[in-house]
Amino acid sequence: MIDFNVPPFIGREEEYIMKAIKENRVICGDGPFTKKCNEWFENKFKTNKALLTTSCTHALEMASLLCNICEGDEVIAPSYTFVSTVNAFVLRGAKIVFVDIRPDTMNIDENLIEDAITEKTKVIIPVHYAGISCEMDKIMEIAKKYNLYVVEDAAQGVMSLYKGVALGTIGDFGCYSFHETKNYSMGEGGAILIKNKDYIERAEIIREKGTNRSKFFRGQVDKYSWVDIGSSYLPSELNAAYLYAQLEEANSINEDRLKSWNIYYEGLQDLNDKQIIQRPYIPKDCTSNGHMFYIKVKDLEERTKLINYLKNNGILSVFHYIPLHSSKAGKKFGRFNGVDVYTTKESERLVRLPLYYGLDKNSINYIVYKINKYFEK
Ligand SMILES: *Cc1c(COP(=O)(O)O)cnc(C)c1O
Repeated sequence: MIDFNVPPFIGREEEYIMKAIKENRVICGDGPFTKKCNEWFENKFKTNKALLTTSCTHALEMASLLCNICEGDEVIAPSYTFVSTVNAFVLRGAKIVFVDIRPDTMNIDENLIEDAITEKTKVIIPVHYAGISCEMDKIMEIAKKYNLYVVEDAAQGVMSLYKGVALGTIGDFGCYSFHETKNYSMGEGGAILIKNKDYIERAEIIREKGTNRSKFFRGQVDKYSWVDIGSSYLPSELNAAYLYAQLEEANSINEDRLKSWNIYYEGLQDLNDKQIIQRPYIPKDCTSNGHMFYIKVKDLEERTKLINYLKNNGILSVFHYIPLHSSKAGKKFGRFNGVDVYTTKESERLVRLPLYYGLDKNSINYIVYKINKYFEK
């Protein structure tokens, strides 16, 4: 069987975890490895502040708190995304306004955002699907015009670029995921990136249960106390140590994923040219991190058949999001603005193929061969 996903493991994770236990003697939050990870993001991606969190879901919750979301505020997001993208805002009382996606990238259609804006709108959440950037220039322009926050859900976009700039650093806040299914993993974990320095102090407070404990540890106040609302969003050092081993190897992990991605892309050229399937599209301003390789087939029925065929040939492939606006909670907490032309239709056509760090290139050639074979009939 060829697995769909195997969490990344580089080899030095154990050594660093043992170091955290034995040498550093810090396994609670914000120890040396957490600081190393934060600095790695700040330096590599050129952002004012990065803070590791317990998940991307929690990074999004922090963003929602930092945007001061209140009951009745509206938040614009695609419906083709993971629940956490919007749940974080619903928790603060927001109403979600879903906007259709572009069929080429599966990202929010930037040209439909303006129509969804009302006097209650507070935030736009671009989700960089498959690590391919949304049209950020346009989105930032709209946000500026209407004075809205932009929270990037860059869970899948670590190491991807838009016009040479790292995803997660373009909007006011960027959220990363280090879940086991993402390019870099710490088991469960994430990070929030903060563009404007003015928000750093409050972010630290929210992350530390609403206290100014971070300031206390830096010796800036002589005791810490409860100063704001907050929760516990900082991960254990053990998880940070695990992640840091992978960040050190980020370039080679990235290259390996892109190599796999390209084998799929080239091997499926023929089927694409004959318009039997569609491959992912990368706009010229976007640099990919090889997070995901998907194909789109004719319809839902064809997809179900193909997934079964691949399974019978020892290959695990999977579909992805069921649009949120058609779910029970989505109907309760959101509304779809405009017409769902592509969200449902395109989501039903999409199949994700195995792609993970270290995936054997012969396996990819075999998968490509089998897919070609399937459509030969
Ligand atoms: C994985 C993912 C999340 C959630 O990440 P966690 O770290 O598991 O909380 C949120 N949004 C998107 C788009 C994701 O792919």
